[in-house]
Amino acid sequence: MKLYEFQAKELFAQGGIPIPRGQMVTDAEAAAKAAAEIGKSVVKAQAHAGGRGKAGFIKLAQSPDEAKTYAAAMLGQTFKGFVIGRLLIEEAVDIAAEYYLAITIDRETQSPVMICSAQGGVDIEEVSESHPDAIVGLVIDVAYGPWDYQLRDLAERASLDPKSYRQFVDIAKKLYDVFVRNDAALAEINPLMVLKDGRMIAADAKFDVDDNALFRHEELLGLKEEAEEDPIEAEAHRQGVTYVRLPGDIGIMGNGAGIVMGTLDMVTQEGGAPANFCDIGGGASVETVRKCLSIVLMNPNVKGVLINVFGGITRGDAVANGVLEATAQLGVKLPIVVRMAGTRAEEGLKILEGSALVPEGDPIEAARKIIALAKGA
Ligand code: GDP
Ligand code: MN
Repeated sequence: MKLYEFQAKELFAQGGIPIPRGQMVTDAEAAAKAAAEIGKSVVKAQAHAGGRGKAGFIKLAQSPDEAKTYAAAMLGQTFKGFVIGRLLIEEAVDIAAEYYLAITIDRETQSPVMICSAQGGVDIEEVSESHPDAIVGLVIDVAYGPWDYQLRDLAERASLDPKSYRQFVDIAKKLYDVFVRNDAALAEINPLMVLKDGRMIAADAKFDVDDNALFRHEELLGLKEEAEEDPIEAEAHRQGVTYVRLPGDIGIMGNGAGIVMGTLDMVTQEGGAPANFCDIGGGASVETVRKCLSIVLMNPNVKGVLINVFGGITRGDAVANGVLEATAQLGVKLPIVVRMAGTRAEEGLKILEGSALVPEGDPIEAARKIIALAKGA
């Protein structure tokens, strides 16, 4: 789970890492108000992608009016596929130097590795190609965490200004604590800024939490909701359902990512437009089918649902009973076509006969049927 810059900075601040004063806003009016409180400020579009500076999504605003103009220009724009809905209004600072500091997991040593460079800022990717020696690393033994002397050595190898060593060691230790405490996969500060007055601050922040550890971070779930644009996808993830929303009107469910992808293609090929991807997984129980179906039906565009099941471990009769019970419980009125093959498919299709559900053995025929039924609905 990737956090926005403003969320990552909140975590940093909680861990004692200095960050610029700032405020997250979602409209231009609020941007002007924040800038009036902060003074000369930087307007920063929030997106789960880097390189905003170069793309014009970070702007220095001299006045609240200017902040408002930039905010209005950025909001609603698309940056690397992300629609900008949030801005961070932050105090503008006087820059003396821009360093780079990050922690990630090194697969080779199976340990956290700290990466540092004196040549931080917007071109770190280029530095890694043209001057790989300007980027230095420290593999951390998780039994002890980083020792101060190791961090001072890292700062020296990276050619940081010796006047900054003390602050660097302090920030690096705190970043390691935040990284470990939140089960991060990546924590990055670029630029780690040295200001003209000598202070060192985290001017940008990237933070990626290991999804497999989210279950033990209830305090991060609020951030997760904010981090996800689509409310249905957010609800699906809360319930542990694999779901991706799509722009069409035909709900799709299947047992396995491959068969669901194939179903999306078949519906599209037959002239329909899928409303989602939803994988119900193997051994689908009534409870799982009900959960998935209720998520799929949260989308108001859905006019019909195609359920495509290939019975292997999953048995056709179990799915048929699951779908019947789930539709009854949910009071579904929309047309539903169930296509089945494999283990106990015939029994499954027989169970569905006489119900409001439309059983079908052939996948292309099933796609055609749901498209026609959705048109009529
Ligand atoms: P990114 O391009 O998405 O990585 O966004 P950053 O937050 O790293 O900002 C990019 C660049 O904008 C930084 O490297 C700085 O040079 C510049 N920048 C960011 N904040 C400030 C600020 O407060 N004052 C000034 N003058 N420049 C800033
Ligand atoms: Mn950056």
